[in-house]
Amino acid sequence: MVTIRLVQGDITEQSADAVVNAANSSLLGGGGVDGAIHRAGGPEILAECRALRASRYGKGLPTGQAVATTAGRLPARWVIHTVGPVWSAAEDRSELLASCYRQSLRVARELGARTVAFPAVSTGVYGWPLDDGARTALRAVREETGREEAAGAFDEIRFVLFDRRAYDAFTEAM
Ligand code: ADP
Repeated sequence: MVTIRLVQGDITEQSADAVVNAANSSLLGGGGVDGAIHRAGGPEILAECRALRASRYGKGLPTGQAVATTAGRLPARWVIHTVGPVWSAAEDRSELLASCYRQSLRVARELGARTVAFPAVSTGVYGWPLDDGARTALRAVREETGREEAAGAFDEIRFVLFDRRAYDAFTEAM
């Protein structure tokens, strides 16, 4: 049985097999959690991201997809970069947000990562409302870890919420 755990904290300080980054499609760094991961993890992560841009992802990583690199100096083995959708009031993009969690877990499973830490993807600069972002995240993780192929693959999926407001939103959604 996989444990889904909520913690308030900084994802760069989390020991896990894989830490998920709310990246942007350039994969070349940004603000928020992305900036924090590159700062704490060091230049090795960016070097692998550049290599991905030069090979498989010449046009960038599409929204809703995920790809892994080294975690550099972070207390994790891998960083899984995923690109969340920008919130839109006019268009329902929640499938893309759910896809970030599902695809990240698929990549994690392929790597053999049994403990995976997620931030609240899209809920910062990309403007997704926290309560909806939390529900979508939890639903997607439960669905993906409940699939037959994922049976026994994970020990713990941890949501690392940066502030009290995010932590409360996830607690409520849980
Ligand atoms: P996005 O562009 O996908 O919205 P952001 O990085 O701006 O990504 O924000 C995503 C979430 O990550 C926000 O809830 C933000 O508060 C949170 N966050 C920012 N820094 C960290 C960190 N070091 N650890 C965990 N969560 C963080």
